[in-house]
Amino acid sequence: MQGIDLTAISTETITLPIDQKKNIETSILRLDKIHPFISGNKSFKLRYYLEEAKRLRKGTILTFGGAWSNHILATAAACKLEQFKSTGIIRGEEPPVYSLVLKQALEMGMKLCFISRDDFSKQKVPVELVNDDSYLIPQGGFGPLGAKGAADILNYTDKEKYSHICCAAGTGTMMSGLIMAASSSQKIVGVSVLKNNLQLQEHIRELTGEARNNYDIVHEYHLGGYAKHNEELIDFMNEFYRKTIVPTDIVYTGKLCFAIANLIQKNFFPQGSRVLIIHSGGLTGNASLEKGTLIF
Ligand SMILES: *Cc1c(COP(=O)(O)O)cnc(C)c1O
Repeated sequence: MQGIDLTAISTETITLPIDQKKNIETSILRLDKIHPFISGNKSFKLRYYLEEAKRLRKGTILTFGGAWSNHILATAAACKLEQFKSTGIIRGEEPPVYSLVLKQALEMGMKLCFISRDDFSKQKVPVELVNDDSYLIPQGGFGPLGAKGAADILNYTDKEKYSHICCAAGTGTMMSGLIMAASSSQKIVGVSVLKNNLQLQEHIRELTGEARNNYDIVHEYHLGGYAKHNEELIDFMNEFYRKTIVPTDIVYTGKLCFAIANLIQKNFFPQGSRVLIIHSGGLTGNASLEKGTLIF
């Protein structure tokens, strides 16, 4: 399998599809180009977990995720590349037909173990999987090592240039890393892609360790909830692609770019802001759409 190519990362100045022109410069950090499956932020969030597993001489990686989880797909691919065995502990009953993520994870050698939603919410590792050879990565790579990896993201751009750094937020691990890597005069703007994700604030406090105020969480752009989408979002993603030639996904980066364009129009950012959008990958998430919905 193809390796991770960090040299493919680029920062591109873009013109957003918005009506009113504002005195705001927008750029996008293309982490989506480093690997087709170990997409964007997942490679950063996984790196120190895998390093620790190696140091502890563990041979098997265990992790949790849903049937459409980018984290499961990325973990399966990263384990294959780095010669770990892997087991995905998947939320809910085994489905009669596997999702594309589960099929691809299996193909890459990941074993799958389905557990009840109740056990999943408690992140309960099935007893038969507990042994000395295994190393557990929390769901979504959430934890200090995940945030430490995400903090490395800003080493791949000219980070001092920007007044605002914007990202999509699920578990908040990537956002926490960015908060720690940014200076106190910069602002990290996290767009929550889950509905009523009030834990996000707590998660970020837990991972960043101290009271910081160089960030904002924006809760208004989940468009109905995780992976929910509407025509307005699809139209925006197509228009965004026409303007920038940057593909986005319906779960994370499409909502992020939609939110940022909207916030610019609402004068959320002061005049003269230099805004960096983190393209955290996740393009495989578009596979669930009917063909032809997106123009890319
Ligand atoms: C997983 C994922 C995120 C969310 O990252 P968190 O650290 O869980 O907040 C954002 N964007 C993409 C493309 C992802 O796959």
